[in-house]
Amino acid sequence: MRGVQHNEPEQLATIFKALAHPVRIAILDLLRYGEECVCHMEATLGKRQAYISQQLAILRAAQIITDRRDGMNIFYRVVRPEIYALLDAARAVNSLPMSVPPPIRRESCPCPKCTPVVAVAD
Ligand SMILES: [Zn+2]
Repeated sequence: MRGVQHNEPEQLATIFKALAHPVRIAILDLLRYGEECVCHMEATLGKRQAYISQQLAILRAAQIITDRRDGMNIFYRVVRPEIYALLDAARAVNSLPMSVPPPIRRESCPCPKCTPVVAVAD
C-alpha cells in the first residue's frame, strides 16, 4: 500500500467498476483455482480472444490480475484474492450457491492444462 489514501471512495469505485461485468466475473471465477491461459478462457467462455483481452485489460488496470508469458501462451492470475470475498458476498445477496466448480478441462482447448504438451521424438 502506498501511504495514506485520500481518495478511498474513488479507489473502491474502481474495484466495483472492474467487477461490474458478467464476463469479467466469469473470468475471475475461472481464476479461483489458479492461473489460466487466455486460450482456455476463450474456449471456456465462448468469446473471441480480442474480447477476452479487452476484459482482462480492465481487470489488470484495476490491479486485480497480472499476467506472465510462457512461450506462445499468456497466463493470467489473481493478485488480490480478497476480490473473491466481494464476489461471494454478491452471491450471498442473490441467494446463489457459494461454491464455484473448478475449471473444466476439455480436449478441444489448446491450453497447456487441457492439452499437455507431449514430448515429440525427433
Ligand atoms: Zn484449457
